[in-house]
Amino acid sequence: MKRLLRTLAAGAALSAVAAAPAAASHSWNNYHWARTANPFTLQVGDNVLGDWDTHLRTANGDWSASAVMDTPTVPGTSNRRCSMTAGTAQVCNAKYGNNGWLGLASINLSGSHIMQASAKMNDTYFAGATYNNPNEKLHVMCQEIGHTFGLGHTSEDGSSQNTCMDYFSNTGTAATSTTSTHPNQHDYDQLAAIYSHTDSMSTLASSPATSAGMAGRSDARAYRTQRTDRGNHSEIMEHFSDGTTRITDVLWADGPRPTVDRG
Ligand SMILES: [Zn+2]
Ligand SMILES: [Zn+2]
Repeated sequence: MKRLLRTLAAGAALSAVAAAPAAASHSWNNYHWARTANPFTLQVGDNVLGDWDTHLRTANGDWSASAVMDTPTVPGTSNRRCSMTAGTAQVCNAKYGNNGWLGLASINLSGSHIMQASAKMNDTYFAGATYNNPNEKLHVMCQEIGHTFGLGHTSEDGSSQNTCMDYFSNTGTAATSTTSTHPNQHDYDQLAAIYSHTDSMSTLASSPATSAGMAGRSDARAYRTQRTDRGNHSEIMEHFSDGTTRITDVLWADGPRPTVDRG
């Protein structure tokens, strides 16, 4: 992220667009893993420590209840930077710094097909009193993993649809609330819709994944970066010279959102 924000600060093209109207669908632009049959298996790499392990297993267990996919937790192949591994979603926690973000989900795309993904939890904020509670941690973990399947947000105004894909905040007086800490039926329905077709090829790793393959791609330098801000939410799109892109969904911590690298 530091490298990315430096790229932004270095004068990469920025754009801001107006909020899109809320829709019943919360697919993330129809991004999806390519696969030749359903249900499919997406390996979710465990690079997390401490109580994050409990939240990762809870979230993966919830998402595996989807009829179209199985999301087993497997040993992580990543590092502190959460470098990606082809065909998998890698999940990480670390003190990523006072850079403004609480959670990040990134997907690398070829067309609308997800090639690899990562989800990061920023302990710089989660170690602080505001966010350090199991409900907020589970909400963010569940949401960032949900993005790696191609799900977007059900709302971004702080209201609760009782799904981890909303922007309800389990902090302050709601710190003890378990609202919005799990997927709801609408998420499972949305996944079924996203994955109703099959593809002629697969972007999923066959078990067990190694850190070979496209792993280097996540450390590659983008030639063009665009950031879209929408309320308390931002999306960053990076374009690579091989024609692929990476899209990162940013969940900001409370407080002013940085416009340049503060980390
Ligand atoms: Zn497809
Ligand atoms: Zn999100």
